[in-house]
Amino acid sequence: MYAARLLPALRCRHPLSRSIFSFLKRSNHPKDPVPIVSEDNLFHPFSKSPFPALRARGEAIQRLAPCPVCASTHAHTHAHTKAQPKAVKFECPECGWPTHCTDEHWKEDVEHQKYCARLREANEDEHDLRSGRRMLEFELPGPQGYEEAVSLANWDVFWYTRGFASMDTERSRRHASKLLTFPITIGGTIHQHSGLTLSNQRLTPEGSRSLAALRSTLHVPPGAPETEEATVGKPQVRIFILGARAESSLPPHVWEQLCMLFPSTHFHLFFIGPQVSLPKPPGSGPIERLRHTRSSLERYGVPSYTVPYTPQLTITGMQANYAEVHAQFQHTLDPYSDMFFFFSPGFGFPSPDSFAENGEPLLQIASPTEWGPVLPMLLASKCPIFVTGFSPTDVERDVRSLSMAPEVSGEFEWVITPGPNAFGSEKWEVADFDPRVMVKTNWGIWAIRGKSRDVQEQNSLFSFLPQRS
Ligand SMILES: [Zn+2]
Ligand SMILES: [Zn+2]
Repeated sequence: MYAARLLPALRCRHPLSRSIFSFLKRSNHPKDPVPIVSEDNLFHPFSKSPFPALRARGEAIQRLAPCPVCASTHAHTHAHTKAQPKAVKFECPECGWPTHCTDEHWKEDVEHQKYCARLREANEDEHDLRSGRRMLEFELPGPQGYEEAVSLANWDVFWYTRGFASMDTERSRRHASKLLTFPITIGGTIHQHSGLTLSNQRLTPEGSRSLAALRSTLHVPPGAPETEEATVGKPQVRIFILGARAESSLPPHVWEQLCMLFPSTHFHLFFIGPQVSLPKPPGSGPIERLRHTRSSLERYGVPSYTVPYTPQLTITGMQANYAEVHAQFQHTLDPYSDMFFFFSPGFGFPSPDSFAENGEPLLQIASPTEWGPVLPMLLASKCPIFVTGFSPTDVERDVRSLSMAPEVSGEFEWVITPGPNAFGSEKWEVADFDPRVMVKTNWGIWAIRGKSRDVQEQNSLFSFLPQRS
């Protein structure tokens, strides 16, 4: 119960915390830095970590997480006693996370073995990120030669065909997949070599038509060289990322990796949401003001900025609800060149602000303060709407909510059926409110668009879920 009630907190404190970006500041590294902790010394209990940020993380967990053994005991006592489980003050010596109230309850808890190895891995990953070693896995490759095809079946062939330098450990692959999951989830879905196809039934016949329309703009006619010169005369491809949070503060050079999959496309990324980061002077915020950054307040009427980063990539960020700016795009939205992405939007979570007449919270997909007015606008455009989720349960919750939103239910057709995303982050993100809750950013993906003709059968949508006995 406790975890279920607090699960939305996992979304608010976005799994991709901003601290990761401090490792991405471009350095000249004339020589390799000397690591603070060495590769054979990555494990430290949080309270004894050499890094203040990790000690603070441990303290935050101690404040937020209840002891699971106390919690299960209290579940059997009467509610009127109002006793609360004790907080997690004891750090498991195997994984280093605060997991129980005391040594006794840690010893008593046979369940912890299910989580301990993953938590240990996450502990070492956090220390490795801060170790000060040269992070070769964050040194991203340049443009692809146009005769060299990129394979988008999974991360491993992606690393290989894109020429990533140093992906020989699981840990490097976890770090790099977390960094690149947002741009490559988009690229790996819309690219003509996507692993989501008709033959594996992830793409529907209607979806195949939608993607064919987009790909006619993203790529060049068969046989023609896919070069920067081929961008001439093609429309910009606009990707609207709604409800954007941490992904809006990913450095532009990381988003450039998306462009490198489409050498003849000019992308305009729009990050739109109340939690979108706006640029600050260097050193004082998650995204820096670049030479070409300019305010777009007058153009869009909301706090916003635009960076023409390269001839192939323009980025606009708007700190606003999409409903406030839709009118400015409404008449130009085109299924051949425009699309929407939602990264873990929480459609199926209860709204914190909007309630039905019976006092129950509305689901965010139907709530006037969240996505209620937005999805019908997007469906009317017929542009595809791509959605990710951080676990099978998260995907299922959002998909089920579609049928509970009056202006969405019956108004859409499937483009991509719900299931795993080959370009999800491979790193476990651990919840501060309960270290037993672990998710992976962009674990799954699905897509819909406004209905045009035939009604689709909705059976067996959940075939990706493990069978429940
Ligand atoms: Zn306890
Ligand atoms: Zn442990």
